Amino acid sequence: MFEKIAENIERIKGQLQPQVTLVAVSKFHPVEAIAAGLAAGHFVYGESRVQELTAKVPQLSPQVRWHFIGHLQSNKVRQLLRLPVSLIHSVDSLRLLRAIDAEAVAQGRAVDVLLELHVAREATKSGFAPDEALALADSNVPQSLRATRVRGIMAMASLTDDVEQVSREFRTARAAFEALQPSMGAAFDTVSMGMSDDWHVAVDCGSTMVRIGSAIFGPRL
Ligand SMILES: *Cc1c(COP(=O)(O)O)cnc(C)c1O
Repeated sequence: MFEKIAENIERIKGQLQPQVTLVAVSKFHPVEAIAAGLAAGHFVYGESRVQELTAKVPQLSPQVRWHFIGHLQSNKVRQLLRLPVSLIHSVDSLRLLRAIDAEAVAQGRAVDVLLELHVAREATKSGFAPDEALALADSNVPQSLRATRVRGIMAMASLTDDVEQVSREFRTARAAFEALQPSMGAAFDTVSMGMSDDWHVAVDCGSTMVRIGSAIFGPRL
């Protein structure tokens, strides 16, 4: 059942430039699936629910680099930051950013985050509009953060077969990243975009981090 996982990871890594990070999205898949990826030498995994991550962390090697990619509710921030999460991709409001920073200070830890940008057509997707993110970057917010490093942006494209549309949205996100960079500093270096069905397009548009689930682990149950 898990024998294809190593093969899928190796195939995808073989197609990625070395400067593009692969986040293997293991949500809804059992720890045995992640163990198969670890055996293949892959250490970066993405989860989208705090509950599920909480259950998985103690069952797997401390070498795993856990990324949180799902919608994060403020009331789950404390629990999430108690876990060894190395990057939160889904900071979609100023309120959440402040809550994360306050909790990281309280816990005496540092945390890396990405700002989620809304570039897709679907109104259901969350995140900052590019101009909202620019306003944030030019405000005193970045300097006011005490324990949080904003490392870049995350974006999702519309769910459509229209490659032109997807490409336009990814290019919009990449352009916003470049516009934000001067005010955000040297650590602002990450563009998280691209999933199983659109990662080739995302990489062409300047992604530095792809989040791939079903193309590695198969369909989610
Ligand atoms: C589930 C998820 C992915 C992975 O999706 P696949 O289509 O299975 O590759 C990537 N990013 C986010 C934010 C997700 O929630």
